[in-house]
Amino acid sequence: MSTQSQSIVDIQGLNKWYGALHVLNDIDLAVASGACVVVCGPSGSGKSTLIRCINGLGSYQTGTLRLAGTTLGLNASETAAARRQTGMVFQSFNLFPHLTVLSNCTLALRRVAGQSRAEAEDIAMAHLEKVRIPEKAKSYPGQLSGGQQQRVAIARALCLNPRLMLFDEPTSALDPEMIKEVLDVMVALARDGMTMICVTHEMGFAREVADQVVFMDGGSIVDHAPVRDFFGPSGHPRSRLFLNTVL
Ligand code: ADP
Ligand code: MG
Repeated sequence: MSTQSQSIVDIQGLNKWYGALHVLNDIDLAVASGACVVVCGPSGSGKSTLIRCINGLGSYQTGTLRLAGTTLGLNASETAAARRQTGMVFQSFNLFPHLTVLSNCTLALRRVAGQSRAEAEDIAMAHLEKVRIPEKAKSYPGQLSGGQQQRVAIARALCLNPRLMLFDEPTSALDPEMIKEVLDVMVALARDGMTMICVTHEMGFAREVADQVVFMDGGSIVDHAPVRDFFGPSGHPRSRLFLNTVL
């Protein structure tokens, strides 16, 4: 197991309630630098809530959540600095519709990182090349397919040079023929050594690049295993039941 200092994410005894609903129940999770962790589980099991907490978007009531060495929620400026080490990709792309692909990618570089337009555009174009869509730099999101928009969203997140990428069902809103182009980009990213936490039910992706699989149900981590064990004959019965529904 990795030690604390090597973990980009270190969660211990995390609990969160929405009123009476215990939405995260005693979550323990450490993610080592360079690891790819797939999080799966039925709808409503708390996957998005967990990812949002890791991204500093959601509060929690008890436990600790350390991101890049900072305990989130103690100090506002330190929390903000830690959050900037993460990139987030949502199911619904969330690109700014009134900005070109290139401007979507350069916005944070110019506003947050204070880069010049030329510097920001160089960085953005390099990432658009990486997701294999440089020719759409001057297009608007509405002119792109869902798969293309999601690749732009990944490029935009990468522009700020995150140490951790968080994906929340990035292919769930896509037509089947577009899923692969997005997964290919994610596979390349994982092979490049990016630390990634991916909420996804794409088990082919999990088998190909994940190091660990986490299975959540009812706000708890029910199973957390190296990918080989997760899919192996001695896998957890509850995970196996779930796998039968998604495979
Ligand atoms: P998943 O991503 O696994 O589908 P979520 O994390 O979105 O699950 O939701 C977990 C549970 O928390 C669900 O029962 C959901 O209805 C509830 N929930 C999510 N967001 C809120 C909220 N803002 N207020 C109250 N309940 C919420
Ligand atoms: Mg969700």
